[in-house]
Amino acid sequence: MKQGPLPKCFDARKACVKELELSGVVKASALSRLASVVSCEDTTISASLRFLRDEQRRFVVSVDVAGDVGVRCERCLDIMPLAVEAHSTLMLCSSDEQAQQCPNQYEPLVYTGDELDLYEVIEEELLLGLPVAPMHEAMCIDALPELEATPIVEDRKPNPFAVLANLTNDSNES
Ligand SMILES: [Zn+2]
Repeated sequence: MKQGPLPKCFDARKACVKELELSGVVKASALSRLASVVSCEDTTISASLRFLRDEQRRFVVSVDVAGDVGVRCERCLDIMPLAVEAHSTLMLCSSDEQAQQCPNQYEPLVYTGDELDLYEVIEEELLLGLPVAPMHEAMCIDALPELEATPIVEDRKPNPFAVLANLTNDSNES
């Protein structure tokens, strides 16, 4: 199903009262914090948000996000594709005090104005959904010995390690 773009700002409390559901896409390039940690040119993130009030009359937003990004493998340092998915149930809090009393099943989100920045919410979810140390499932590092076997031809610049060795010697002598 082709989805339209999500609005950036949205009156989330009103949406909770009306129990609205919203789904759509966001260009990953519009999410600057995400774009600074993953490679995501031309990536679209799809998100769906469900606004409701629970039995305690709390304002609750259920958020699902998904998108395909590129991350650097911690082992071989190549960029690898990664499907990121995240889900959270947020409770809209009007103050820090209310956030501190937020029950465990919700993530508190302090927001005082009328309009909630949905892009920020989506970006935060995606960042939390990223693995701390992404790696290829296969032992990608096996490719490395091949690299080492290739001799590096020609290098007229002084070897930086030689310079380092000289420095070490100097400091030893003085
Ligand atoms: Zn790898």
